[in-house]
Amino acid sequence: MKRPKIVVLGAGYGGLMTVTRLQKQLGKNDADITLVNKNDYHYETTWLHEASAGTLHHDRVRYDISSVIDSGKTEFMQATAMKVDTEAKKVILNEGELSYDYLVVALGGAPETFGIQGLDKYAFSIANVDAARQIREHIEYQFATFKVEGEINPDRLTIVVGGAGFTGIEFLGELGNRIPELCKEYDIDQKLVRVICVEAAPTALPGFDPELVQYAMAHLQKKGVEFMIGTAIKEATPEGIIVGKGEDETEEIKAGTVVWAAGVRGNAIIEESGFENMRGRVKVNPDLRAPGLDDVFVIGDCSLVINEEINRPYPPTAQISMQQGELVAANLAKLINGNNDLGTFHFDNKGTVCSLGDDDAIGVVFGKKVTGFQASFMKKMVDNRALFMIGGVPLTVKKGKFNIF
Ligand SMILES: Cc1cc2nc3c(=O)[nH]c(=O)nc-3n(C[C@H](O)[C@H](O)[C@H](O)COP(=O)(O)OP(=O)(O)OC[C@H]3O[C@@H](n4cnc5c(N)ncnc54)[C@H](O)[C@@H]3O)c2cc1C
Repeated sequence: MKRPKIVVLGAGYGGLMTVTRLQKQLGKNDADITLVNKNDYHYETTWLHEASAGTLHHDRVRYDISSVIDSGKTEFMQATAMKVDTEAKKVILNEGELSYDYLVVALGGAPETFGIQGLDKYAFSIANVDAARQIREHIEYQFATFKVEGEINPDRLTIVVGGAGFTGIEFLGELGNRIPELCKEYDIDQKLVRVICVEAAPTALPGFDPELVQYAMAHLQKKGVEFMIGTAIKEATPEGIIVGKGEDETEEIKAGTVVWAAGVRGNAIIEESGFENMRGRVKVNPDLRAPGLDDVFVIGDCSLVINEEINRPYPPTAQISMQQGELVAANLAKLINGNNDLGTFHFDNKGTVCSLGDDDAIGVVFGKKVTGFQASFMKKMVDNRALFMIGGVPLTVKKGKFNIF
């Protein structure tokens, strides 16, 4: 009998979790599993703010996909997925195409610029390893150039971070540690450096405990971060940004670096392929299949799951992606064994920890508020746990964060 073909698109948290769990649940002859990813490496998206600031080398945030998959059970294909043809049951790749019986779309997210003019052209986004490396090098270039130019340009030392959500705050935390190092390296007075965080919402870290938000802001302000809360970026330009001030007024902030960290949408393939979606995210059925498509699962940042308690979508996180990957693997194993009674997704929230640099953090873990060393320790354990879940002890030992003290 012909073996069913399972194709998994994306080797991020959701995709790798699906594949590593499928490898455990299916025998070699039960199915042909193909994993497709743009690069031959996986990167820890949740560590990219560190690589972007330059506090962690980009090689530390990635590992070879071949080190966590069983080549006897899974074929890895390095390729870029361009479109899914759900009628013909095939994926169009940058070169060639792949047919499937079951498809898992786990291609992650993309920056959401909400149509703000110039952001896609003039602002950086912490999107992947290449982008992180570019941000780190760009900031370093600004510092390296500052003193060698004939005319001093203070804007080179101004960094604007758009968004005081999770990603923005974590990036600011890393900058807080990196800027003093850069000043020392390039003999620059730190008073000349400005780091400005612009946030349109009335608070930083919307949805977080207000006491923890205050803690985070005070910590970052101590490190020199200026906050402009309740202020919307209207436009990004080659010189910096324009923000709204009052009714009709605007103000220009000149900056050599603008990093947009304020929004996530699903991968463009979702829209290109004609899936029903909201900002590139598919509101999946409880069993994580796309509505009307019994053979397509969508997980991670490409999916949208409603938190019934508040009737709003869960924010996209690695934690959700991994839990979804586990369920999809179990559901696929059921389908392949002829059992159509699929499991349904219930998010088991283990808590959230937001780092404020290597040495501080805030969080709520198992319902308890944590800050400082305790939170920073928890954050590293969360990072190590993700490695362990996918690659077991060998990967954790190789890539884990053990700089506890
Ligand atoms: C700086 C930062 C900090 C974060 N911190 C946290 C945190 O502390 N906790 C938390 O839970 N979440 C955090 N998040 C969110 C979290 O990283 C995402 O929700 C999570 O990575 C989504 O997982 P995923 O499996 O959907 O996709 P990803 O893990 O992003 O993986 C997608 C994969 O698909 C590949 N890919 C993309 N397009 C294509 C294509 N066309 N063809 C082939 N391959 C492709 C990519 O190369 C990548 O390997 C953070 C995000 C950022 C940016």
